[in-house]
Amino acid sequence: MDKGKIYEMIINNLPHGFSLVDKDGIVTEFNRSAEKITGYRRSEVIGKSHLEIFHGSSDKSLCPLMQYALKKKKGADFLESTLTRKTGETLYLSVTIFPIYDDDGSFLGGVELFRDVTSQKKEERERKNILSMFAHDMKNPVVISRGFLARLLSNKAGMVNATQREYCETIDGELKRLHELISDFLQFSRFEAKEYVPVFSLFNLERALAEHVESLRIEADKKNINIELDIPSGLASEVSADGSMVCRVISNLLDNAVKYTNPGGTITIAIADKDDQLIVSVKDTGVGISSEHLPFIFDAFYRVGKDSKGSGLGLFIAKTIVEAHGGTIWVDSAPAKGSVFSVSLPKKRSEDTHSS
Ligand code: ADP
Repeated sequence: MDKGKIYEMIINNLPHGFSLVDKDGIVTEFNRSAEKITGYRRSEVIGKSHLEIFHGSSDKSLCPLMQYALKKKKGADFLESTLTRKTGETLYLSVTIFPIYDDDGSFLGGVELFRDVTSQKKEERERKNILSMFAHDMKNPVVISRGFLARLLSNKAGMVNATQREYCETIDGELKRLHELISDFLQFSRFEAKEYVPVFSLFNLERALAEHVESLRIEADKKNINIELDIPSGLASEVSADGSMVCRVISNLLDNAVKYTNPGGTITIAIADKDDQLIVSVKDTGVGISSEHLPFIFDAFYRVGKDSKGSGLGLFIAKTIVEAHGGTIWVDSAPAKGSVFSVSLPKKRSEDTHSS
């Protein structure tokens, strides 16, 4: 059998959709799987514009393959994309694209290999919805139980003796932890469900830090941890930010500093003005983190000590929020010496800068 025939057979029997286009996006090859996935017959697409048929416009920037080639990128790229079938329904595709260049580097055309992953996507979405509904429903009983415990502790149902108080406080501590785990998980599943876009308004960082420090004092005092603030006087500490979310970042970092610092230690919170950014740093004299763990510390569910009582989501949530603001989060740490977690936040959004 001649080679051309063999190649044709291989391409036609590929379990993936295969589409070959020339440099102008005209379809020159379209296999059986591609016909099955898209609903278009080979004869309907060969010689026609891939852009018009599958992207509904001749605009090359709408086609990932053309965009990739316009940037002169080489090698394969893997992406997820949607496609409207001939029948009108929307499909989710997992696509591999690779442009082809001649020896002089001129773009000749490219290949798209694709699989229909609509049913996997649907299952994934349903699984995430179930998990987040489940987490949401778990929150109410915890809140109600803590409310009744608070009533017991304030002697509203008769005098509570010292042992009963101690037990009730232990139960409340555990419920508080459960509440935090559920909140972290809910936030995580929201971030997973759709890209987080901050709602910007003017936000005073210094005031937010001072408020968080106050609410943390009881916990810190219990562990005999000293908290210091290092904020230059007269600092203009306003940023354009999603206030409630930046508060979440601050409280994650401060809670961790208290959690991972031994009694007698010190936590220093600073704000520094650096060009068009404000840098918040939270320094502790705590247990520190060894270098093998540092690259993973901002990953979801990553915890250094598996007996840590946290979810391993706090730093992931902080990173997602900071990066959505156009900022950065990083850590310097050494075991037994302590850690410094730093966050940079642009004072203004780039749109604000352009419009002013
Ligand atoms: P967790 O809820 O477990 O605290 P985080 O995402 O906030 O989750 O932190 C991930 C891991 O990073 C923690 O389990 C802990 O091991 C380590 N870590 C975070 N902050 C500190 C810190 N200030 N000092 C030492 N280790 C820390």
